Amino acid sequence: MVTTPGGPALGEPAPPAQVQVLVVEDEPAIATAIAHRMRAEGWQVEIAADGLAAVAAAARLRPDVIVLDVMLPGIDGLEVCRRVQAERPVPVIMLTARDDETDMLVGLGVGADDYMTKPFSMRELLARTKALLRRVERSVQLAGTAPADPAITLGDVSIDRGQRRVSRAGEPVHLTPTEFDLLVTLALNPRTVLTRERLLAEVWDWIDASGTRTVDSHVKALRRKLGADLIRTVHGVGYAFEPAEG
Ligand code: CA
Repeated sequence: MVTTPGGPALGEPAPPAQVQVLVVEDEPAIATAIAHRMRAEGWQVEIAADGLAAVAAAARLRPDVIVLDVMLPGIDGLEVCRRVQAERPVPVIMLTARDDETDMLVGLGVGADDYMTKPFSMRELLARTKALLRRVERSVQLAGTAPADPAITLGDVSIDRGQRRVSRAGEPVHLTPTEFDLLVTLALNPRTVLTRERLLAEVWDWIDASGTRTVDSHVKALRRKLGADLIRTVHGVGYAFEPAEG
């Protein structure tokens, strides 16, 4: 078998070299189980058991991804996410206690990329972490090599894909990276119903239907920021971008 020294095995998508993960979780059994499973992937894993330790560890380690429990002693996961993201953008998977908590957190614009409700399977957490790392890797590669994508203008919505800026009726709208990717995916297929599974696959690079709650939550966040009229729900199927006729 031919491999590059230290490189990925043939047929495997290339993971970032030496993935560094920060696990922020105050329940030792869960933290240890996550760390154990991720170390088996060859990843470097460090655990922080409270919010302030997490902020300090993020600054020191510069992790590739943070798995962040919401309920923590000291400052909670929301505040950890805000403080860490204020320093530098880092992919975050947030662990929540209930599905409606995910809606609430996305609505607050905390800036996590994905959400998982406890109890979750380790297999699913690992798959979603890998999907998130692939997304980040891809966007870094695109930023370095691809010519600027053309801007999209639909009705009064303008999307500058090169600068990753959005405005509606001339007013800038601040979106998280995941919200931006979701909006672009919808806007590239205007007046077309995209299933939640397709959105999950295209935006999150993840294909298990258990993740569709994340799609719903991010659509809610887009509506809150851009206006409720732009994205139509097709019940039981998915969503369609419906720009105003101009
Ligand atoms: Ca907790």
